Amino acid sequence: MSALAVCVAMQLSAASWSCAAEAGPRVLDLTYPFDDTTQVWPSNPPFHRDSTQRGGTATEAWYATGQVALSEHAGTHMDAPIHFAQGQAGIDGIPVEQLMGPAVVIDVRAATADDRDYRLSTNDIRRWEASHGTIPAGAIVMMLTGWGAYWNDRERYFGSATRESATTLHFPGFSKEAAELLVKERHISGIGIDTASIDYGPSQDFVVHRIVNAAGLYGLENVAGLAEVPASGATLVALPMKIAGGTGAPVRILALLPPRDDK
Ligand SMILES: [Zn+2]
Repeated sequence: MSALAVCVAMQLSAASWSCAAEAGPRVLDLTYPFDDTTQVWPSNPPFHRDSTQRGGTATEAWYATGQVALSEHAGTHMDAPIHFAQGQAGIDGIPVEQLMGPAVVIDVRAATADDRDYRLSTNDIRRWEASHGTIPAGAIVMMLTGWGAYWNDRERYFGSATRESATTLHFPGFSKEAAELLVKERHISGIGIDTASIDYGPSQDFVVHRIVNAAGLYGLENVAGLAEVPASGATLVALPMKIAGGTGAPVRILALLPPRDDK
């Protein structure tokens, strides 16, 4: 059993279940619900659901069903390597071991408060490492921008009132240099962010997507609740819908928090 598997098993058996009642939640859901409020990239179709229900009366048994239609990149989702790298894996081809790993949360909220087009730098990575040690191989590196506060305000979230065009957007993202450092020197499993894109809003070349995807890695976008995850010590599990050849997919992201030491 790998160290990661042991870690997950320990958290599930010891921390999450037995301590949940007295010590608060030990598993966080970092996923926005899919509904009429789901944010989608400019010009992409909105999330759509039709539902049918009947019965539930004294004479007729209850029955409910539904059907959905959505972009592979709507709401909380995972970008597959094939999204920006021809020949790379679709969402169904990502090894499952890569879908879980140590959570690295780099908090740049102080910088994004002054600059909505802020890009996470290699200095931000080194500052995190000075406090928490070198980013471990297999980590899932999350950029905490604070943009989750704007999820229900499309104009603030995208930094633009234009729904049709992706050329007027303003929100933070990773820098090219940071992506190269994480992919080439830290051997991470994937990256994620609490904005609509791992590239910052003004990007037109999507260079961070290209670097990450060309390395066979994935991106997590529109991640919810990131401020609740500690900078280090949690384990992330990100399970996308297994769409054959999908360029991305809706994903359920869980953070398994480390055991508390105040027991
Ligand atoms: Zn995407």
